[in-house]
Amino acid sequence: MSVDCIFCKIVNGIIPSKKIYEDEDVIAFHDINPSASVHFLIVPKLHIESLASCETQHQSLLGKVLLLATKLAKEQGLAGFKTLINTGADGGQEVFHIHIHVMSGGKFPKA
Ligand code: 5GP
Ligand code: ZN
Repeated sequence: MSVDCIFCKIVNGIIPSKKIYEDEDVIAFHDINPSASVHFLIVPKLHIESLASCETQHQSLLGKVLLLATKLAKEQGLAGFKTLINTGADGGQEVFHIHIHVMSGGKFPKA
């Protein structure tokens, strides 16, 4: 856990979240400021700063997160969804604990 990290605090229950999924490796919860009708985040529990910090040892965790996006989207009844990983300040990343956005419906930025 990184002491000043918002997502580590959510992982550890210090900050509440609208959780939709949790297992030993990951947690998923609704974004506090949604950019789509449905907008949730899938967050590995391990504090990794960003996709750019990932190494070979994180390969299966990254694969798990992608497969989970589909599983959770189906469970949420989404007909389609957009996935997004912002990497680094120039990539639009604001929370420096790796996460994947899953968004569906409404008007969200095209990219
Ligand atoms: P980033 O720009 O780093 O890819 O996205 C960070 C996301 O985390 C943003 O969409 C923001 O709304 C969301 N977020 C930031 N703080 C919190 C929080 O305390 N709770 C929840 N549920 N989402 C948060
Ligand atoms: Zn963290």
